[in-house]
Amino acid sequence: MRKKAKKSSQLDQIIYYGIPVSEGVVIGNVYKFDSGISKPILERNIRKSEIASEVLKFENALIQTRKELLEIQTKIAEAMGSDHADIFNAHLLVLEDSTIMEEVTKRIQHELKNAEFIFSDVMKQFTKVFSEMQDEYLRERISDIKDVTRRILRNIKGEKKQDLTQIKEEVVVIAYDLSPSDTVLMHKENVVGFATDIGGKTSHTAIMARSLGIPAVVGLHDVSRRIPLGSTVILDGTKGLLIVNPVSDTLKKYSDTKSLIEIYEENLKSLKNIETVTKDGRKIELHSNIEMPEDIQSLLSHGALGVGLYRTEFCYMNRTDLPSEDELFHVYSKVVRKMNPKPVVIRTMDMGGDKFLSHLKLPVELNPFMGWRAIRFCLERIDIFKTQMRAILRASAFGKTKIMYPMISNLNEVIQANSILKKCMKELKNEHLDYDENIEIGIMIEIPSAAITSHFLANHVQFFSIGTNDLIQYTLAVDRINERIAYLYQPFHPGVLRLIQMVVQAASKNKVDVSVCGEMAGDPAGAIILVGMGITKLSLSSMFIPKIKSILRAITYAEAEDLVNKTMHCSQAVEIKELVDPIIKRVVPNFVNETVL
Ligand code: PEP
Ligand code: MG
Repeated sequence: MRKKAKKSSQLDQIIYYGIPVSEGVVIGNVYKFDSGISKPILERNIRKSEIASEVLKFENALIQTRKELLEIQTKIAEAMGSDHADIFNAHLLVLEDSTIMEEVTKRIQHELKNAEFIFSDVMKQFTKVFSEMQDEYLRERISDIKDVTRRILRNIKGEKKQDLTQIKEEVVVIAYDLSPSDTVLMHKENVVGFATDIGGKTSHTAIMARSLGIPAVVGLHDVSRRIPLGSTVILDGTKGLLIVNPVSDTLKKYSDTKSLIEIYEENLKSLKNIETVTKDGRKIELHSNIEMPEDIQSLLSHGALGVGLYRTEFCYMNRTDLPSEDELFHVYSKVVRKMNPKPVVIRTMDMGGDKFLSHLKLPVELNPFMGWRAIRFCLERIDIFKTQMRAILRASAFGKTKIMYPMISNLNEVIQANSILKKCMKELKNEHLDYDENIEIGIMIEIPSAAITSHFLANHVQFFSIGTNDLIQYTLAVDRINERIAYLYQPFHPGVLRLIQMVVQAASKNKVDVSVCGEMAGDPAGAIILVGMGITKLSLSSMFIPKIKSILRAITYAEAEDLVNKTMHCSQAVEIKELVDPIIKRVVPNFVNETVL
C-alpha cells in the first residue's frame, strides 16, 4: 500500500497516501484526537500515610472505567447491535482480573509508589507476556488491553478524555490510532471522517467505520504528528488520500466531485428494486457478504437478493470461551429468519490467516495463511465443527440456508466434512430437531488446487463460491495483507483469470451453481470480466451493490464475453486493464473512479 507523504507542485499542499478502509470523500477541519497512547507516566514516591488514598484512587478508577465501558456498550448495542458491543467484553474482563488488581495493591504498599506508575508497570508486564507469545490472535487482545489500560490510567489521574461526542462542528478526526470504543462515539453529523497513523483494513475500527458510513483512511504513518491543528483537509476514503491544506484549485475540484458523487449515489437508489440485467437481457444476481446479523439492514436497503457469504468467524472473536450450539443457533436463525425467503449462505468457520480466536491456544505458525486453519482446523477439532454445523442445520428450518466450507484444497476434505454433516443430521433427527434435509452444500474455491480440480469436487457439492481474495493470494504467492508487495496482488493477472475460467467451465459442465464472493465482485472492471466469463451470481459488500448494478445494466453480455475472449490473449494484467478501461469510462462517470488531482 502506498504510504509515502508527497509534496505536490503547489507548495503548502501536502498529500499523504494511506490505506482506504471506508469509502467517501469529505472536506473539513482537523480535530486532533489524542487517545493518550504515548503519554509518559510519572513515577512518584509516596508516604506510608498515602497508601490508602493511592489504593482508593486506583479502585475508584476501576469503578469509573467499568461505568464508562458499560455506557459505551449500551450505546453501541443501540446503534449497531449487540455483536459490535461484545467487542468490549474483553475490556471488561481486564477490569475483573483479580491477579492484576492484587498485584497493583500489593506493589503500592511495598514499593511506596504512586498508583498510575505501579498500574502502568503491571500492565506493561501483562502486555509483554502476551506479545512474547508472538501469536497474531493475541495481538488483538493486546490492543484491547492497551485500550482499557489507557482508560484506567486516565481515570487514576482524574484526567478528562477528549470527548468525541462533544464535537460541535464538522471535523475530520486525525489520531495516531483509534480504538473501537473511540470510533463508536463519533457522531456521523460532526465527525465526517477520520484518518490514523496505523491500522489495517480488517481491524475492528475499520469495520466499524464502514458500518457507520464514515469515510476513513488508515496507515498514514506519522500524519498525526505532522499535521498542524486547524488545517483544512480533504479525506478521500475511496482512494486512501489525505490532502492537507488543499489549494483552492484542489478544493474546488474535490467539492465539485463530491456533489457529483452525491447526486450519482442518490440516483442509484432508484435501482434498489430493479433487476440487474444486462442490455441484452442476461440476468445477474447480486447478493451481499455479511459479518454480523446487523449487516442485514444495509443488505436490504441496498437491494441484495440474499446473503452470498456469511463470514461466521466474528462470533468466535473477542471472547474467552467458545460459543455454544444454542448461542450460534440463535444468531444464525436470526439471520435466516430476517432474510426468509431470500437465501443465506453460511460459511463454516474460516479461522486463521489474519482472523484469530482469542481463546484457543493455537500453536504459533510461521505461515498462518497456509497453516492449520479453516476446514483443516475444523476437521481436527470436530467438536467445534459439529457444534457449528448443528447450529447451521437447526437454523435451516427457518428459511433458505446453504452451508459452505472454506479453504478446500482437496477432495478428501469435502468428503470428510460431508460425512460429519451427515452425522449431525442423524443426531438432530434422533433428537427430533428440525432442519432442512435438502440443505445445499457448497465450497469456497480459493486455493489453486481446488480450482484446477474443481471438476472432481463438483460431484460432491451443489455450488462453488470463488473466493478471489485468497485465490489471488495463493496463485500469485502474494500475502494479501502485506502492503509492501501490494503491487503484485493483481486480480487481472492472466493466471488468476484462467483459474476462474476453469472453475466456471467445470461448474457449467457438472451442473453446479457458481458465484464469486471475493472483493473482485465489487470492483467495476472485475464484475464486468466475471460476468463475461459466464458468472451470473456475485456476492459483494452491500454498499457496492447499487454501483455494480448500474454498471451491469449499462453493458451487454456480448461485449463482456468479447472482452474476456480478448483478455485470454493478454500476457499481463496491465494489458487486460487497458482492454477493460474504455468500458469503465463509458459506464462509470469519470468523477467516480478517477483521481481528482
Ligand atoms: C475470499 O477469500 O475471497 C473470501 C471471500 O473469503 P475471505 O475474504 O473471508 O478470506
Ligand atoms: Mg478466503
